[in-house]
Amino acid sequence: MHAGPGFKSGSTDLAPFASPDAFDPVLRDFLHQSSELLCRWLGSSDQRTPLPTIRPAPEVNPALHGVSMPQLLDDLQIVMDGAYQPSHPGALAHLDPPPLTASIAADLICAGLNNNLLAEELSPGLSALELELCRWFAQRLGFPDGTTGVLASGGTLSNLMALVAARERVKPEHRQRGVVLCSRDAHVSLLKAVRVMGLRDDALQQLSVDSEGRLCLDALEERLVALHHQGRPCLAVVATAGTTVRGAVDSMDQIAGLCQRYGIWLHVDGAIGAVFGLAPSTAELVRGLSSADSLTVNPQKLLGITKASSLLLMRDPTQLRLAFSTGLPYMEAPLGEHHGGEVGLQGTRPAEVLKLWLGLRQLGETGIETVLRSALDRCRQFTQRLDPHQFTLHNGSLHLVAFRPSGHSDQQSDRWSETTRRILIQHRFMLSRPLYGSSHCLKAVLGNPHTTSEHLDQLASLINQSVI
Ligand SMILES: *Cc1c(COP(=O)(O)O)cnc(C)c1O
Repeated sequence: MHAGPGFKSGSTDLAPFASPDAFDPVLRDFLHQSSELLCRWLGSSDQRTPLPTIRPAPEVNPALHGVSMPQLLDDLQIVMDGAYQPSHPGALAHLDPPPLTASIAADLICAGLNNNLLAEELSPGLSALELELCRWFAQRLGFPDGTTGVLASGGTLSNLMALVAARERVKPEHRQRGVVLCSRDAHVSLLKAVRVMGLRDDALQQLSVDSEGRLCLDALEERLVALHHQGRPCLAVVATAGTTVRGAVDSMDQIAGLCQRYGIWLHVDGAIGAVFGLAPSTAELVRGLSSADSLTVNPQKLLGITKASSLLLMRDPTQLRLAFSTGLPYMEAPLGEHHGGEVGLQGTRPAEVLKLWLGLRQLGETGIETVLRSALDRCRQFTQRLDPHQFTLHNGSLHLVAFRPSGHSDQQSDRWSETTRRILIQHRFMLSRPLYGSSHCLKAVLGNPHTTSEHLDQLASLINQSVI
């Protein structure tokens, strides 16, 4: 076999495509050396800062002739040197934890298999695995048999697919006037969704939250009544299980009760919180998840499944098909239930299920529980160390907390958060600075397994000294 025009084969150069009829030792060396770079990068995370100080400046254009293996490895190294470091113990700004090691390997294999979840014939085993794993999630989170699901490249897409599916239940002539209700603290992806859906500017109506950051039930009921009088259909109520700034969990049982009474779709955005439903000892924190018609889960956020990893669970399996099925005239009919491309928005899609499945296999049930509980513990430890006389906490019940100095004006709070974030970064702690209410605060996400009690002591002490 020769490798086609222009490609050398049988030499010591890396062939662009692996030989189909012989083990390729050069490819093995390349993968070994790439892995070596990665392991060094991971293993020296704490010697750098979470936010890199270098801007990577790799050669962007492909050279006229393809470059050699050493050059490819150099190219990779340049990008790695300038990459964000989720494994640094001080990386506490966002919902971006270090990667699970099994997920890293699975991602490599996923690329090597290069299967396509669009259609069963392009990913026979993996399509079935995705469906089975969605069923496991559904069962684990308390949904009835028959609940189905689909993986998506991020929670934004899962939320969008849920709302599009919910809209199917409303008569076509009424859809344009549709409204989606959620709390003021719900995620921005919902705004994106209603825009993409072509709804009116006021389609996303965000309601007040109580002192714990949860959607106000009175406000919700009042608005449902008002919409009814205006003759505007409510396409869905979105409850959030874990808000992005403070990790608040809406009262899903009560919201589900209201939705049932008014005959409205309940979508739960559990991008942050739904994973807590996987372990018996933490499930109480997100009680009511399974009362949802649809649920977004983001295993990429706390469990460390490599990006992107999100899934949408759907109580009524026909609903996804109604929303997204077009027929796939260029594919054989599936032997299983459906083609992946017929139950979701994405077409060609990698087998993201592989890193999710292998990552969960690696953790096991006890490992999953440890990740969840230790994040909650760190959050408790951290908040206990903050001086209660100096700070007002905006927390919920999960592993993240926002805070600001008590009694500060908006302007003072903005300035304090900016200065303090800068000082913390000099000490290799990265927190984020979200806008919450009318000013910025600081936020810590305690999902990083490398952050120890000593780190938390040091961090809290820096913060306690930050208010003058
Ligand atoms: C992160 C997040 C999303 C969006 O998920 P992506 O994976 O970033 O697209 C949706 N909802 C909530 C509550 C989130 O925190």
